[in-house]
Amino acid sequence: MIPLGPRDPGPVRPDPARLPHGSTTRFAPAPTGYLHLGHLVNAIYTWGIARSTGGRVVLRIEDHDRQRCRPAYETALLDDLERVGLVPDRPSLDELRAGPSPFRQADDDRPYREAVERLRAAGLVYACECSRATYAAWARATGRRFAGPGCPGACRDRRVVESHETGLRATLVPGDEPFDDLLLGARRGPAASDGDLLIRDRHGNWTYHLCVVVDDARHGVDLVVRGRDLLDATPCQIRLGRLLGRATPPAWLHHPLLRKPSGAKLSKADQDTAIRDLLAAGHAPADLLGFAAAAVGLLESPRPIAAARLGDLFARGHPGSSILSG
Ligand code: GLU
Repeated sequence: MIPLGPRDPGPVRPDPARLPHGSTTRFAPAPTGYLHLGHLVNAIYTWGIARSTGGRVVLRIEDHDRQRCRPAYETALLDDLERVGLVPDRPSLDELRAGPSPFRQADDDRPYREAVERLRAAGLVYACECSRATYAAWARATGRRFAGPGCPGACRDRRVVESHETGLRATLVPGDEPFDDLLLGARRGPAASDGDLLIRDRHGNWTYHLCVVVDDARHGVDLVVRGRDLLDATPCQIRLGRLLGRATPPAWLHHPLLRKPSGAKLSKADQDTAIRDLLAAGHAPADLLGFAAAAVGLLESPRPIAAARLGDLFARGHPGSSILSG
């Protein structure tokens, strides 16, 4: 269907005996482009694991970045999910279409403001005027990547005055955060891998990390299923969650990504893998799901899979290759 690069190395299928039962997981696209085959892989894991374990799928529209998100992309992604048969348990697609929703980040920023005030009250927030250029200049000058507490401009120590042109950072205690990945096993990583965590950017957007941690808590998400490109985000999200009062982090599963023949991950700029274009070209939803499942290694070869049967891919005794249609 589409030329793809070699698969990510490492395990593909979680041990069914290790998957938690009755969890709430989420599908959390940012409406910055059309859904593509990479999203479909994430959806296969998310819905498949939820359906095989009696769990629920929350759909969350991650439009915290007001400069990059477009309502038209959200409309398109809701339509694409419906056409492929990927229906969330909460909220319904029609609820999202009808208007403001607690599952759309841009509709109400009170939860993020409240979280920041909580951190501020604990003395953990400071204004930061560093830009990407500040980071790049620091890296050039030192030959290293900035990591650990603070920021390259030492904004915390300089007591930068907060304004609508400064970012905000949360102080993260340095050090590693261990976690268990349902596919990759025991992991650990630095909680402050880019310095203290940016929680509001210099354009006034609440950041991805802040929104995800706040939303996973308020939406009751206790199983996060996402691609391995976000593996490095996990330690700092666990740490931030703890600072915000979440003692028990969610369970984590980071799945392999689809890659282009060049090895780069698929992105929204790759129009040729957009789900809507593939549907318009006449590919059936079950064929697309089967193609994506095979491309990531969940099937030995592509076979049609209906969305309603995705749980079979993760069930005990799954044969790995012989399945599934209808
Ligand atoms: N919104 C993120 C994305 O589209 C996913 C967030 C997450 O899984 O933590 O890549």
